[in-house]
Amino acid sequence: MMEDKVISVEQLTKRFGSFTAVDSISFSVSRGEIFGFLGANGAGKTTAMRMLCGLSFPTSGKAIVAGFDLYNDPEKIKKNIGYMSQKFSLYEDLTIRENIRFYGGIYGLTDGQIKSKTEFMVQHLHLEDQVDKLVKSLPLGWKQKLSFSVAMVHQPKIVFLDEPTGGVDPVTRREFWTMIYEAAHEGTTVFVTTHYMDEAEYCDRVSIMVDGRIDALDAPSELKKKFNASTMEEVFVQLARKAKRGD
Ligand code: ATP
Repeated sequence: MMEDKVISVEQLTKRFGSFTAVDSISFSVSRGEIFGFLGANGAGKTTAMRMLCGLSFPTSGKAIVAGFDLYNDPEKIKKNIGYMSQKFSLYEDLTIRENIRFYGGIYGLTDGQIKSKTEFMVQHLHLEDQVDKLVKSLPLGWKQKLSFSVAMVHQPKIVFLDEPTGGVDPVTRREFWTMIYEAAHEGTTVFVTTHYMDEAEYCDRVSIMVDGRIDALDAPSELKKKFNASTMEEVFVQLARKAKRGD
């Protein structure tokens, strides 16, 4: 039995030619945990996350995600996870209702399930007046919340969020994090990258990547103790300063 581990990674590596983007990372994540995946630009977060989502093949190493092996069952992994990319995946030229229907269909929900999910989401997000409007007419913060809800439409075991709150104001970010807490409370594991250090404080545990490696991994309070820092920002800066990559 894997207890309650929903992600187990051992020495996972990704090379592009002679360049090692992700360099032998090892960690595990539990059910219902909010796991922050931090690192400076170019550290390798997106590359690592894409491998865990079954979207990119590792060069070497092992990973079990949502109970499935990354090499043998990438399609099963895709069905059991949600993924919200940096550019999120909503179709701007479809309405909110059409987007929910489209993604519900991809994940194999029945028409009845899609209908009730649509009602639930629209109510939950207070989008009653917007549901038949094109997604492109929504403000960025609403698009992000909708995108998160759509990534959760099939009640996945794990949801991967790649900088889900980039570019929005602190109040909207706070609302987004309320949604993350709700998901985790219901047992969904949340794997999230962010460049906002206040958000790092909201995570149960945080990993910090430097030049493709995981240089630190612990609860924010432990990391602050270990690095003799009063904020996660200070911890991050101490580590990221060593980075040779970046843009
Ligand atoms: P950011 O915070 O900017 O999104 P990141 O930590 O997600 O950064 P990655 O996008 O994973 O970083 O990139 C890690 C490194 O791998 C970068 O140096 C990038 O240029 C390189 N890289 C990513 N994808 C490829 C690719 N397909 N071919 C070659 N190099 C790549």
